[in-house]
Amino acid sequence: MSKTYDYAKIEKKWQDIWDEKQTFAAKDDYSLPKFYGLVEFPYPSGQGLHVGHPRSYTALDIVSRKKRLEGYNVLYPMGWDAFGLPTENFAIKNHIHPSIVTENNIANFKRQLKSLGFSFDWSREINTTDPSYYKWTQWIFLQLFKKGLAYKKKMSVNWCTSCKCVLANEEVVNGHCERCGSEVIHKEKSQWMLKITDYAEKLLEGLENVDFIDRVKTQQRNWIGRSYGTQVKFTASTGDEFEIFTTRADTLFGVTYMVMSPEHPLIEKWADKIENLDEVLAYKQEAAKKSDFERTELAKEKTGVRLKGVTAVNPVNKKEVPIFISDYVLISYGTGAIMAVPAHDDRDWAFAKKFGLPIIEVVSGGEDVQSAPYTLSLIHI
Ligand SMILES: [Zn+2]
Repeated sequence: MSKTYDYAKIEKKWQDIWDEKQTFAAKDDYSLPKFYGLVEFPYPSGQGLHVGHPRSYTALDIVSRKKRLEGYNVLYPMGWDAFGLPTENFAIKNHIHPSIVTENNIANFKRQLKSLGFSFDWSREINTTDPSYYKWTQWIFLQLFKKGLAYKKKMSVNWCTSCKCVLANEEVVNGHCERCGSEVIHKEKSQWMLKITDYAEKLLEGLENVDFIDRVKTQQRNWIGRSYGTQVKFTASTGDEFEIFTTRADTLFGVTYMVMSPEHPLIEKWADKIENLDEVLAYKQEAAKKSDFERTELAKEKTGVRLKGVTAVNPVNKKEVPIFISDYVLISYGTGAIMAVPAHDDRDWAFAKKFGLPIIEVVSGGEDVQSAPYTLSLIHI
């Protein structure tokens, strides 16, 4: 008997049997308890799977297999979120019809997923570029439009001067197009928007009822954005007032510094008062080259410059606190300035530790201010 595990032979044998017998197909049997395991469908790029795909599919595959053994009627489907600019550009460049490129990419992804042995129900595979499917995408859009949830808005977008298309923030690297390397400019364009903010409160409430670990819930809350809070006015040593937005006005006594976006208009106004203006302007220039996505990524190391010569006064205790500029504060989000309460905010905490700023706990029973906060970086599939 051979001591080596001939994975190629053994796994192929069982995968073929699963295929033939439709082992993992959900049954049309309403008497059984149901379990629906849903993963985010991949975008089938020309590069094939990356490690992020099997990472999430494996976890739910384990759960799905366990549920089947427990007698559940399990639906664990797979499909393709296949509309994409990269495919379009690849098709243009190589003179191949995009439908053929998409078909080839899907075939490759499917082969790879099957060889990994996932227990997907392939009988229910869907493909968003299939007209029999995308009619539903169009139908959903019409329902949103009728309810006023889809609307057009003029806004500044990332525009690749060579690809002649709009780029997502994460497709802009150092001010250049991720794909072709050409310069990316900001262009005013009329865009279709979906009013997901109308559901912010519902999403936040829903988080209370799901069995997620705390740090994932925090990450979700940050993504949803905060809907309720207070605008608080701070006064700078120059006499100028500026506003910040906070959901936790009860932590005002824990403010040990302020952070402004490098693009905040007051920075320009204070040009003759800021003693380290060269350093501030150099930082601003560097920040402008990064996308919003790069700037606000949670796992990123915090950077910033302390303004010398200008400080702020905390309105509740009249304490003078330093002002920093940092790229993680965006001028397009909120007021472009924040109050920092490092004892009760992971991001402020990381920043305060780096710059040796005081950390004052003001809400008892909060987080352990001495332990390092755990931040999870987003896995983009
Ligand atoms: Zn480009």
